[in-house]
Amino acid sequence: MGERALAIDIGGTKIAAAVVDADGALRGAVRRPVPVVSGPSGAEQVFAAVWDCAYESLLAAGVGIGELAGVGCGCAGPMRWPAGEVSPLNIPAWRDFPLRERLRELVDDAPVLVHNDGIALAAGEHWAGVARGVHNLLAVTVSTGVGGGLILAGQLLHGGWGNAGHIGHLTVAADGPPCPCGGQGCLEVMAAGPHTVRRALAAGWVPPAGQPADGRVLAACAAAGNQTARRELARSGSAVGAGMAAATNLLDLDAAVVAGGFAQSGPIFWDAMRAGFDRHAGLAFSRRLRILRSADPDRVPLWGAAAFVLVPDRYGWSG
Ligand SMILES: [Zn+2]
Repeated sequence: MGERALAIDIGGTKIAAAVVDADGALRGAVRRPVPVVSGPSGAEQVFAAVWDCAYESLLAAGVGIGELAGVGCGCAGPMRWPAGEVSPLNIPAWRDFPLRERLRELVDDAPVLVHNDGIALAAGEHWAGVARGVHNLLAVTVSTGVGGGLILAGQLLHGGWGNAGHIGHLTVAADGPPCPCGGQGCLEVMAAGPHTVRRALAAGWVPPAGQPADGRVLAACAAAGNQTARRELARSGSAVGAGMAAATNLLDLDAAVVAGGFAQSGPIFWDAMRAGFDRHAGLAFSRRLRILRSADPDRVPLWGAAAFVLVPDRYGWSG
């Protein structure tokens, strides 16, 4: 046992790992893409890539498995929690993959905690990021999907099935378009990158020759003055602002931290988000919400994963 954790972050396209010390210092950080696999061995190939990345990180940091307080992992959802059986939308080879159990076998039954990446974001920002010292915090990520996590009274919230703070399926437009979740008018379908791009394409936006129709290119076109791109990016921001207002109207939060590609894209998204928030946050306790920009997208997910095991009273759980 020791005061350091192995932290792993598994997104739809990349894997990251590092050894994280009790003061938040990262050692031996390693990143690699999620392998593109198919066929019956695909699940094992993805797991091998995860463990290679993690093991390489331990070697680079000069830390043995026996010196770890445990392993924390943030993974794209959905998942069964706390069992840590994961089915990331963008990793089709993993369906109910027993990630937590498989990691435990490799670390001599040291504690292994797996949670969804939105919750790791909240823990990471609160433990060592821009939201240190905030008592009541919402973390929101706007990317391929919209996710998030919640800290209330200084404690990470999990919810009964591990989905507390998953703001992506909060209704922000009661009569809005259908959402892939089966609902309607969810924040995710109004604001996530692929949905925003789809709306822009339907309205006549064409990406520059040779560039993909994705959120990054859309944001660049908006910044360069394309009116359709600008309008749809702003609609995304406005929906996120409305969602944050709904969250703080319910929960009386102190701050929200926003992460993901659109949040980093500049004033078009940010100003629309602020305006959307102002339209829907009317009461004094709601209007006081501080809106923070996530500043360290490479380290925050690893901080959060590490916090699960290094600060169990605040960010951990049993089961
Ligand atoms: Zn939904």
